[in-house]
Amino acid sequence: MRRKLAAGNWKMNGTGAALSELSALIAVHPHPSCEMLICPPAPLIHRAAALVQGSALAIGGQDCHANETGAHTGDVSAAMLAEAGATHVIVGHSERREDHGESDAQVCAKAQAAIAADLVAIICVGESLAQREGGQTLQVIGAQLAGSVPEQATGANTVIAYEPIWAIGTGKVPTLAEIAEVHDFIRAELTARFGAERAGAVRLLYGGSVKPSNAAEIFAVSNVDGALVGGASLKATDFSPIVAAL
Ligand code: PGA
Repeated sequence: MRRKLAAGNWKMNGTGAALSELSALIAVHPHPSCEMLICPPAPLIHRAAALVQGSALAIGGQDCHANETGAHTGDVSAAMLAEAGATHVIVGHSERREDHGESDAQVCAKAQAAIAADLVAIICVGESLAQREGGQTLQVIGAQLAGSVPEQATGANTVIAYEPIWAIGTGKVPTLAEIAEVHDFIRAELTARFGAERAGAVRLLYGGSVKPSNAAEIFAVSNVDGALVGGASLKATDFSPIVAAL
């Protein structure tokens, strides 16, 4: 049985005042088979982790560097995130792949660094609108999985998030059949590579314009084990009904 996961990605939103949203979220009690996670901006992680201690809410980073230390101005290592209290880290979000030119190989190295630091790596994949319209979706996702998911991935250390780029922050959502097609494909690709037992333990999240009104129908889709939520994770009043829909 895969534990369901509702993960929130605050992106570059939230100063100290936003910690009150976490205070509201720790009053939410997800079903025992479900997990909830918020990934705030890096400067808030330490305070956020202290605030949620002992609750069902976990705290994660939004990115990490592949190296442990070194001359990498502005970057943070996976071990630094872990020391600050993070238990998860998102890697390979399309905004990182686009804004920072991150390749599959770099994303894979980041995931390896995360796993080595005992963090759960949430590895993002997803096609652009042009790729979907060109009928290349599964080919693109297959290549991203092959290049970004490290050999040591297991259900305990890795989560895959399918996020069609054209659905992120746009209010556009694929049809449930389109989500099912990609999630079934991801499961099949992982099974071909890691075997049914190991692949069957990896959680697959859908991300892109998930909100309280569409969460339940998306969570009912085969091989959808939760969501990676951007905009609707910023307010506890939006994120708690999504957690409740898991
Ligand atoms: P959105 O973002 O929920 O605001 O569409 C999702 C994401 O980028 O993780």
